[in-house]
Amino acid sequence: VGGVAAGPAAAAEAARVDPEAEVILIEQGRDVSYGACEMPYLLSGVVPAADALVVLTPEALAETRGIRVVTLTRVQRLDPAARKIEVKDLVSGHTRHERYDKLILATGARPHWPDIEGLQGDRVHAFRTLAQAASLTALAQDGRQRWTIVGGGFTGLEVADQLSDAGHGVTVLAGSRLLSGRIDEPTASILRSALQAAGIAIRNARAVGVRRGVGGAAIAIRTDDGELVGSDRVVVAAGTRPAVELARDAGLKLGPSGGITTDVHMRTSNSVIWACGDCAEVNHLVTGQPAHVPLSPNAFRTARAAGRNAARTGRQSTGKFAGTVGAFALCVAGIEIGVAGLTESAARAAGFDPVTATITHASRARRMPGREQILVHLVVDRKSRRLLGGQLAGKEGAALRTNALVPILREGGSVSDLYDLDLVYTPAVAPSLDPLLVAAGAVLKNI
Ligand SMILES: Cc1cc2nc3c(=O)[nH]c(=O)nc-3n(C[C@H](O)[C@H](O)[C@H](O)COP(=O)(O)OP(=O)(O)OC[C@H]3O[C@@H](n4cnc5c(N)ncnc54)[C@H](O)[C@@H]3O)c2cc1C
Repeated sequence: VGGVAAGPAAAAEAARVDPEAEVILIEQGRDVSYGACEMPYLLSGVVPAADALVVLTPEALAETRGIRVVTLTRVQRLDPAARKIEVKDLVSGHTRHERYDKLILATGARPHWPDIEGLQGDRVHAFRTLAQAASLTALAQDGRQRWTIVGGGFTGLEVADQLSDAGHGVTVLAGSRLLSGRIDEPTASILRSALQAAGIAIRNARAVGVRRGVGGAAIAIRTDDGELVGSDRVVVAAGTRPAVELARDAGLKLGPSGGITTDVHMRTSNSVIWACGDCAEVNHLVTGQPAHVPLSPNAFRTARAAGRNAARTGRQSTGKFAGTVGAFALCVAGIEIGVAGLTESAARAAGFDPVTATITHASRARRMPGREQILVHLVVDRKSRRLLGGQLAGKEGAALRTNALVPILREGGSVSDLYDLDLVYTPAVAPSLDPLLVAAGAVLKNI
């Protein structure tokens, strides 16, 4: 159930593991199997058309994977005792029941909508589905407009950046912390400066009200610091929440993060129901706690495990998802941000005693043209010296360099393990002492 990233991946894996199985993918929307992460690039024309983001059409899923795809159809109820689902055809309005032997929930996440009177209807938009992205792209082609983005998370910032590239005036209401606190202040400060230099207004304010112009021609957002931000259009990108109503109403266990509780095999509290992607709660490998980490790599990896385990028969091997360190990257306003593991405040909240170091170092060797400064910010547990997180920011070499932290974070390694890494050196892409090693050395001096 659910057809964007996790659903098709789980269905494909199930069909591969058991070619005899009848695999049905049900999606309430119009589109299935598309690259949601590339949608912001439609707004600037970098991606020329919404169709280009479709990975596999329903026909291709049927022909190449043997999966029957049903779109514009919502699963409205789940009856685990009878192993039945109630589905509604959203075109005809008819409701029917289907039986299942095994069920995989990939219902994803939905945008969190702040409870503000008037923040809906004409000129107020969501940016979550391909259909929404396509219609917003059409609207963005109607001359220069003033856009206000409610939310400074990665979707909000990517939408802001691409609208700005397309020539629009953009204001982001980012609340108190950029990227919803997923980065510490040194990284946030670089990101904020880059966005502002690109002409995007970043406000440390929250939307609290809406005022409409006469005839609805414009809309103004009232902020908690008493300003009115006039706009032609508003995009609400204020984070997401796991879509778990189906699971909750069927009595499946939900976890503290609000996602569907799963084990390492992505099995829910019901023995023949699995969950994967943004609706599922997973294990955070740094805190050891259940967490909601709605990122694409997690969607695919949890889906592979869920699909395999739902379909496997006899002695076929099981699929496992041990957990995540929440690594992600963002490229906006000519700057790369890479993040893995915990911020300083998240580390403290998880019971660690964090010590941090922030350095800047060149991305290439001294005499190489085009070199840029990279900021590295590391978070380390003072007593155990365990590496808890890292953030990188710079015009080049920041995002992919973050990947080097991931295995250390996953294994519970220390900052000394990072310092000991024999990272590559070649003048055109890296200096002889890599910025990550300079940062690790700086932490070691502090503890
Ligand atoms: C603009 C944008 C940019 C992003 N960029 C990145 C990025 O750079 N890196 C990264 O790692 N992640 C990124 N993400 C996040 C990533 O796209 C998600 O983690 C991923 O799409 C999750 O896939 P999913 O299949 O679990 O959920 P979803 O994409 O939410 O899909 C779930 C689907 O289930 C359907 N559904 C729900 N309930 C029912 C029901 N009852 N019946 C039938 N259908 C149902 C929904 O209609 C929906 O289509 C981005 C997301 C967006 C929106």
